[in-house]
Parts: sequence; C-alpha cells; structure tokens
Amino acid sequence: HAKQLGKAMWRFADEQLNALHMPQARMEVLLRGALERGELSMHFQPILNLISSQVYSFEALMRWNSPVLGSVSPADFIPVAEAREMMGRLGSWALRESIRQMRAWQTELPGVGVSVNVSATRFTHTDFVADVCSALAEYDSFAQLLTLEITESAVLADAQQAREKLLELRDMGVRVAMDDFGTGYSSLGQLRDLPVDILKIDRVFVQESQSDAAFIKAMVVMGHSLGLKVVAEGIEHAHMAAWVQALGCDLGQGFHFARPLPAHQAVASMVRLQGGYSLTDREERQTDK
Ligand code: C2E
Ligand code: MG
Ligand code: MG
Ligand code: MG
Repeated sequence: HAKQLGKAMWRFADEQLNALHMPQARMEVLLRGALERGELSMHFQPILNLISSQVYSFEALMRWNSPVLGSVSPADFIPVAEAREMMGRLGSWALRESIRQMRAWQTELPGVGVSVNVSATRFTHTDFVADVCSALAEYDSFAQLLTLEITESAVLADAQQAREKLLELRDMGVRVAMDDFGTGYSSLGQLRDLPVDILKIDRVFVQESQSDAAFIKAMVVMGHSLGLKVVAEGIEHAHMAAWVQALGCDLGQGFHFARPLPAHQAVASMVRLQGGYSLTDREERQTDK
C-alpha cells in the first residue's frame, strides 16, 4: 500500500508540475495509462453513398475521456502519442476494437465495413502489416470490410516502401484510403503509382467556394480516371451534400448525415435511415399508443 501510495503521490506531484509548466508532458503522463483505465473508446461516423444514401462504411474515430482533463480531442492527443511512441499500442488496440465492432454490426448492417485511421509513424513501422494480419485473424478475417486511412505523410518518407506495404495489404483484401487529400505535399504523380482505392478530400476544400469547386472537380476527374472512389469530408448541410454530389463525389461524410457516435448508436441511426418507412412507421405506431 505504501508503495502504491508513493507511486500515486509521485504521479500527483508530476501532474501538478505539468499542470503549471508543461501541458504536453502532463498529457503524456495521463495518456500512458489511459487505455488500461478504460478511458479510450472508438466512435463511428457513417460514410454514405451520395446517390443512394446507403451507408458505405463507418469511420472509426478515437475518443479519450480523461477524468482529469475531460474529453480531449484526438487532434491534440494523437500527436502526443505519436511523439512519445505510444501510437503503436493505441493504434493496435483501435484496429482490433474497430474490427470487433464491425463484426458485431454485420447482423444489422451486413456488408458495411469500417475505416480505421493509421498514423504515419505506425504505418512506416516494420511490424505494421503483420499487426493488421494478426488483428484480422483474431476476428475471423473480414479483410474485405476493412479500409485503412493513411495520410500523404505516411507515403512521403519512402514511397517505394509504402507502395510495397500497400500492395501487401491489397493482397490481403484490405482497402486503402488516402485521407485529408490535398493538405499534404504528395504529388498527383505519386498517387498514380500507389495502390490506393479511395480518395478522401479534406473538409477545408468542401466550403462551397469557386476555387473549391475547381479543386474538387479536378480530384474527381483524376480519382475516377485512376479507378478510385472519391469521398467529400465535412458535409455539414444538405446543400453541401448536393453540391459535392453535383461535382461528382461518390461518397460523403459529415455532421449533416451523422456525428461520430458509439457503435450501437451509430448503427441504430443508420438502420433507422435504411430501414426506410417500415421501421419509422412501427416506431410511430408505438408512440401513438
Ligand atoms: P480525420 O481522419 O480526417 O477524421 C475526420 C474528422 O472530421 C473527425 O474529427 C470528425 O469528427 C470530423 N468531422 C466529421 N464530420 C465533420 C463535419 O461535418 N464538420 C466538421 N467540422 N468536422 C467533421 P476527430 O474525431 O476530432 O478526429 C480528428 C483527427 O484525429 C482525424 O481526422 C484523424 O486524423 C485523427 N484520429 C482520430 N481517431 C484516430 C485513430 O484512431 N487513429 C489515428 N491514427 N488518428 C485518429
Ligand atoms: Mg480519417
Ligand atoms: Mg479525413
Ligand atoms: Mg480531415
């Protein structure tokens, strides 16, 4: 007990210090045990076919609810995890948790897959493909329903090695999406040489300006000519959905359709949407009583 108390006090002292002087280091200390304490979870946001409105897949997004810091944005804690070499462990967990949830929703939404974000450092690590392989094996495969979202920076360091990894993943049946496309420094020429299946246009280009329209059109023409599906991110209003659809995007994602939610809620809302009238009628009848 004395030892535990000692540890706790040290941690407390650390946290106090960090709170005063070093917020990043403080976050690091708290993040180290977050997984074991059950503070991390995955939320899921649907990606929809813009023409049929059918759900195509769910993107898995990590959430950290810290009793000390409150809910922390992944935009803040993922860079810390990456810098402190925690992303391998967190990413490995996120992948398994996402596949597990995806397997569970097959009874309600058969054929609907999951898209898992992969940080650049994790992707470039030598063990990455083997970890994906073992994660799939642990959950009876489902490789065809897994998409990995990588960013341009994952490919930039070593394009040849990235290409080889992507080919291995493709051989396993896994799909790959290029996330936040347009925000990095990769060239269109690089994209041509990469075995990628989906292009996600970052939401900074989905603001309905004329220059955005030109950019999206170019991405769509190029993406389609390479046989890729094109996703528009950050669709917040119905008119934005209509706009990106008119520009040729195949898929859309954003608060207009749904916010990221725990799997059971995300799935229920899509089942309601896709179940069409019968389900809605049934619910209305029940509330009428
Ligand atoms: P991302 O992969 O580009 O994910 C899309 C982000 O846009 C998510 O933010 C999502 O909640 C947000 N978003 C979706 N629709 C809308 C919309 O209509 N309007 C606006 N303003 N935002 C929208 P989130 O969940 O905060 O995640 C931020 C970033 O953190 C992600 O960007 C991704 O790069 C990273 N991330 C999240 N989860 C993971 C993870 O499990 N692993 C890794 N490596 N990175 C992750
Ligand atoms: Mg993503
Ligand atoms: Mg994105
Ligand atoms: Mg983005």
